[in-house]
Amino acid sequence: MKAATDAYLATVPPDKKARSDAYFEGGYWLQLWDFLFAAAVAILLVQSRISARIRDWAVRISSWRGVQDLLYFIVFLMITTVIQFPLVVYEGYIREHKYGLATQTFGPWMRDQLVSLAVGAILGGIAVMGMYWVVRRLGKNWWVWGAAASIVFQASIVLIAPVYIAPLFNTFNKLQDPKIKDPILSMARAHGIPATEVYEVDASRQSTRVSAYVTGFLGTQRIVLNDNLLKRCTPEEIQSVMGHEMGHYVLHHVYKDLLFFCVLAVVGFAFLNWGMRWSLARWGERWGTHEITDVAALPLAVLLFAIFFLVLTPVTNSWIRMQEYEADIFGLDAARQPDGEALVDLKLGDYRKLDPSPIEEMIFFDHPSGRTRITAAMRWKAENMAVLPPGTRLGGPQ
Ligand SMILES: [Zn+2]
Repeated sequence: MKAATDAYLATVPPDKKARSDAYFEGGYWLQLWDFLFAAAVAILLVQSRISARIRDWAVRISSWRGVQDLLYFIVFLMITTVIQFPLVVYEGYIREHKYGLATQTFGPWMRDQLVSLAVGAILGGIAVMGMYWVVRRLGKNWWVWGAAASIVFQASIVLIAPVYIAPLFNTFNKLQDPKIKDPILSMARAHGIPATEVYEVDASRQSTRVSAYVTGFLGTQRIVLNDNLLKRCTPEEIQSVMGHEMGHYVLHHVYKDLLFFCVLAVVGFAFLNWGMRWSLARWGERWGTHEITDVAALPLAVLLFAIFFLVLTPVTNSWIRMQEYEADIFGLDAARQPDGEALVDLKLGDYRKLDPSPIEEMIFFDHPSGRTRITAAMRWKAENMAVLPPGTRLGGPQ
């Protein structure tokens, strides 16, 4: 099992492995720089009283608190977007091109950025207005209701994203090729999934990455394969990916994620409530903002949430990674393509470190590493060889 796994990992040329490691490890540092930069911007906004001045301006424009909150948020979003723009260009454009993962020229990339900004302005505007409405009406226990409101909001986004947000960036088509589609739908029926369609997305517009996912819930749930996967993978490899995605579906991962989010939201809002009260009591005078109900303290809320999620990175990553591992195991049983699985895992090594240390995997990986996944596939193969008819050969490097 170990030998078979090592044999697969050894097929990756050393220079390619070094590049993938460098890309992925660079991502660890970027998470830290992103946090530090966002924290610096938030502190600058409150400390310089720019935040208080934006609020005063919004108060002069409208006497309605909801409109004041919205105006404040739009200005806040514009300022932070402009300040963080160079970092975003480096991270999302220059670096992606350097590692050969991006396919867009600057114009279309920028267009996608502007569309994201517009989506963020609309959804963020609704969230901020709604949240401050809750905070003002519910007083001391606002954070419990804030958590509840954020769960409803999150669930609505999961519901509408596949239908209304994702198509702003890519085109989705129903998969046509019967050679690919028929075995997949047969596998779906065998596992009690009432799917009649599989969707294909033109991810090659943005990137060379191979990927697939399950998204949406209630009526909008769907399995989506990206065109890079369809172009670069054999039918066996595609079946192994579909087995994995069906695992997410059958094991109800979208619903479990929402439950996990409920826990995060309640703990996060409790921390936010405590952190806001503590900071405003200490520095409110200097910042020109004293109350949690004052929108001028929004950068502080953003900072506290950023701290919360940074500290919880290993927890959130591990939650997702454990589900991904479950989906892998399900997929091996469903697709019965352990070598297809191993070969896809190597392709995912384009952008994910293949062979990290266990601690590194625990902290930074939101999917199992190549080594973990190939080991599971080879274990499945070894255990199943015993029950296959004599003379059956499964492919792969020997
Ligand atoms: Zn997955």
